[in-house]
Amino acid sequence: LLRLDGLTVRFGAHTALDGVDLDVADREIVSVLGPSGSGKSTLLRAVAGLRPADAGTVLLGGEDQSGVPTHRRGLGLMFQDHQLFPQRDVGGNIAFGLRMRGVPRRAAQERVAELLDLVGLPGAAGRSVGSLSGGEQQRVALARALAPRPRLLMLDEPLGQLDRGLRERLVVELRQLFRGLGTTVLAVTHDQGEAFALADRVVVMRAGRIAQSGSPAEVWQRPASEFVARFLGFRN
Ligand code: ATP
Ligand code: MG
Repeated sequence: LLRLDGLTVRFGAHTALDGVDLDVADREIVSVLGPSGSGKSTLLRAVAGLRPADAGTVLLGGEDQSGVPTHRRGLGLMFQDHQLFPQRDVGGNIAFGLRMRGVPRRAAQERVAELLDLVGLPGAAGRSVGSLSGGEQQRVALARALAPRPRLLMLDEPLGQLDRGLRERLVVELRQLFRGLGTTVLAVTHDQGEAFALADRVVVMRAGRIAQSGSPAEVWQRPASEFVARFLGFRN
C-alpha cells in the first residue's frame, strides 16, 4: 500500500530523513520507534505531504504522491499537535472533516454515531470536549482520523498524554479495532511496550535511517545492531 523509496528530508544542513526505504502492506500495522530526533515525525509528515521531500518518492497504492495535496492522499492523521476544536462538541469534531468533504449533515451524524460506538464512547456526540478525560479525548481524535475511512492511518504518539495503565489497556483495544476494520497503520511511539503490543512489524529509526525493521519477536530476540540492542534496553 505504501512504498517509500530513498525518502530524504533536510532542514538546512541537517538531514532528518536520510534515504528511507519502507514498504507497508495493505492491513499491516507498523510501529515506528527511535530516539528523540531520529526522524519519526518527519517521516509521517513527509508521507502526508506536510513536508516536501528533498529526494526520493512516496507511493500510495502504487501512485507517486509528489504534488498530491495532503487531503487528497486518503490518509487519516492523528498528530500530537492536532488538538480537538474546543468550541465544537464531540460530534462536531468528528464530523468536521466529513462536512468539509461535502458529506451531508444526516449521513455525517450517522457516521459519527458509528465511530463513537467503535471507539467505546457511545452517545457522546453532544458532549463538550472540555468535559472529556484525556483518554476520551484521544478516542475522539482517533474517531476523527478514522471518519473518512482512510486507506492509511498515521498516528504520532497517539496515546502520548496518557498514564501507563490506560495506555496498556488502550493499545490492546486499538490493535483489535484496527484488525477488525482492516486498517493499515503507521504509528510513531517512543514507548517500546506500546510499539511491540500494537504492531505486526516494528521499525527502529536512528538518525534519519532505518536501523532495523522486523516482527516484534524478531527485533526483540535478534536486535540487528548494538544500537538497537541498547535502545531496547539490553545490556551486555
Ligand atoms: P521526537 O521523538 O522527539 O518526537 P522525532 O524522531 O519525531 O523526535 P523529528 O521531529 O522527525 O524527530 O525530527 C528529526 C530531526 O529534524 C531533529 O533533529 C529535528 O530537530 C529536526 N527538525 C524537525 N523539524 C524541523 C523543522 N521544522 N526545522 C528544523 N529542524 C527540524
Ligand atoms: Mg516526533
